[in-house]
Amino acid sequence: MRNFLRSLKFAYTYRWRFGASVVCAILAAALWAMNLSAIYPVMQLLFRPEQTWVVQLDEEIDKLQKDYDENALVLEAHRAEMTRTAAAPANLDRERRERQLIGAVAQIEGKLHRISRNIYWRQWAKCFFLRFMPTDHFRALLTVFGLLVVGVAIRGVFEFGQESLVGSVVNRTLFDLRNAFFRRVVHLDVGQFGDPGAHELMSRFTNDTEALGLGLKTLMGRVISEPLKMFACVFAACMISWQLTLLFLVLVPLAIVVLTRVGRMMKRASRRLLERMSSIYKILHETFHGIKVVKAFQTEGHERMRFREATRDYYHKAMRVVHLDALTGPVIELLGVGAVSVAVIAGAYLVLEKDTHLFGMRMTDYPMDMPTLLQLYAMLAAIADPVRKLSSVYTKLQSGEAAADRIFSALDRMPSVGTNSGGLSLPRHTDAIEFRDVCFAYDPGRPILSNVNLTVNHGETVALVGKNGCGKTTLLGMLPRFFDPDYGSVYIDGIDLREARLRDLRRQIGLVTQDTVLFDDSVHANIAYGCKRVTREDVEKAAKQAFAHDFIEKLPQGYDTCVGDGGAKLSGGQKQRLALARAILRDPRIMILDEFTSQCDPESESLIHQALRTFLRGRTSFVITHRLNTLEFADRIVVMDKGKVVAVGKHQELVETCPAYQRLHEAHFQRKVA
Ligand code: ADP
Repeated sequence: MRNFLRSLKFAYTYRWRFGASVVCAILAAALWAMNLSAIYPVMQLLFRPEQTWVVQLDEEIDKLQKDYDENALVLEAHRAEMTRTAAAPANLDRERRERQLIGAVAQIEGKLHRISRNIYWRQWAKCFFLRFMPTDHFRALLTVFGLLVVGVAIRGVFEFGQESLVGSVVNRTLFDLRNAFFRRVVHLDVGQFGDPGAHELMSRFTNDTEALGLGLKTLMGRVISEPLKMFACVFAACMISWQLTLLFLVLVPLAIVVLTRVGRMMKRASRRLLERMSSIYKILHETFHGIKVVKAFQTEGHERMRFREATRDYYHKAMRVVHLDALTGPVIELLGVGAVSVAVIAGAYLVLEKDTHLFGMRMTDYPMDMPTLLQLYAMLAAIADPVRKLSSVYTKLQSGEAAADRIFSALDRMPSVGTNSGGLSLPRHTDAIEFRDVCFAYDPGRPILSNVNLTVNHGETVALVGKNGCGKTTLLGMLPRFFDPDYGSVYIDGIDLREARLRDLRRQIGLVTQDTVLFDDSVHANIAYGCKRVTREDVEKAAKQAFAHDFIEKLPQGYDTCVGDGGAKLSGGQKQRLALARAILRDPRIMILDEFTSQCDPESESLIHQALRTFLRGRTSFVITHRLNTLEFADRIVVMDKGKVVAVGKHQELVETCPAYQRLHEAHFQRKVA
């Protein structure tokens, strides 16, 4: 329940709105009981058509008054006897008699109090209410129904008010929660994204937040309004006979036990359902993302089966939730009917036998009449409706809680690389970048980098070569602090990156990766991404440097052409050139180029190399490449193998001295010949 309650903290901002909804709920509940009490006058009118209400009330008041007088006489007699007894010599008999008299006096006093209250209400009704009531029975009946309709209409207004206020609180809370969640997620480390997976996070953003919203709506809506209705009816029923009402309430603890059990099962079932939905998101994401591969390998059938299996499993899990949800209603209704029957049978016995006691216990002050019993029955039956509605509340709260657990477990993940806004400011890089004793592992026990030492001077262009998976990308990922070393440090101009302000650091870095990331926006917006206040001229200049200008000009709307989802309307080489232009526009001090021309044709590649030679002058650059012709413009080549730097030097030196480089060189040469 902890996480569910935590989501309420987000709702706290809207407490006044919520308060107003509670006021609406209270008024609606009061009107609910008031509307139901219309049964009594209607029954009176129908059962005793020969009497007017005024006469009826007068008769009742007379009867009560007579009863009051009789009891007052008895009280007086008891008091007189008490005085006499007090004067008698003290002995055991006197004490016993005194005790009896005290008990009897208290009882009669209570009774007198009740009678005078009854007289008061009848007189009040006569003065204020019946004065406006027509004496004609049919007209009176019409008036009662007219009042009933008005009451129901006003109640409807309050119910509408409550629902719409609660709806607005819940939706605003979800708005804040989604934004807080997004803020936290985008600040997670790159490594942390791989852990739950993008599909899992998306599912938590959409499906789980919906389930939580439903839970919150139930908590702020039904959990408030239905008990209030119950309370209003219990109160009204107690006014008729609290003893019979109590008889009705004996089954409440049993209902609570049943609901708790079902609720627990519901929480488990909901959690499984939400997890299954995440895996459906995963399948959708993989299939849609890799649609070309699916088609080329003709695995549509396989994907269809996979999806079918997942949705079938989802169906079974959803049905379990439906069954649990559907089970609570009838069970609670059965208990409710049982409870109402117990109370009404007891009441009916009292009416038929004209008795006030049941098994020696006083149930009412006066023998009940039929309209009163019907009124009691109506009140108790009316309690059953909120109870039935409440029965599904617990299950909805439990699914909300399961969703809250999943959302908050993601929200609680702290990025290990913080923004470090209070850290050292990192001036423009001018000196050297140093990797000192860097060790790193994604999974404990499987080291990716072991004691990497490398110093790169400002202005140098360094090429990293080595077999796939030897750790080149991971090593360069330490520069923008996508990861921090497990051991050792990375320094820029002598400042440990962990101590520097992250914003200062990332501002100096330009990154072009093999997997080009473009947004579904215009070419201009994609190049200017992350740069504020840039003009079209700046964008064009950067595009020219990346040899992208010519092809952009040929696009239907030039720089305003939308590139499609993930740059779908562009070729691989065009996408890479846009990404390069984007990095160039930032005017970075440090450039990381990871297989950045892998999808360019040889002609564009050599043009880009030419441009980069000029652009990279005065900047420190790291180039990851498998193409040895890219190495032409590198000042030094770093050869990596199994997470270690095995050699550093110029092409010719390495060909002569480094066996790992020789192997790469030979492989490249053979590929070229082939
Ligand atoms: P390179 O760039 O040299 O091809 P990488 O640095 O990308 O190599 O990867 C080095 C090793 O780390 C690989 O064996 C790869 O499987 C592993 N690896 C890369 N990213 C992750 C990740 N997010 N989680 C776990 N292992 C990873």
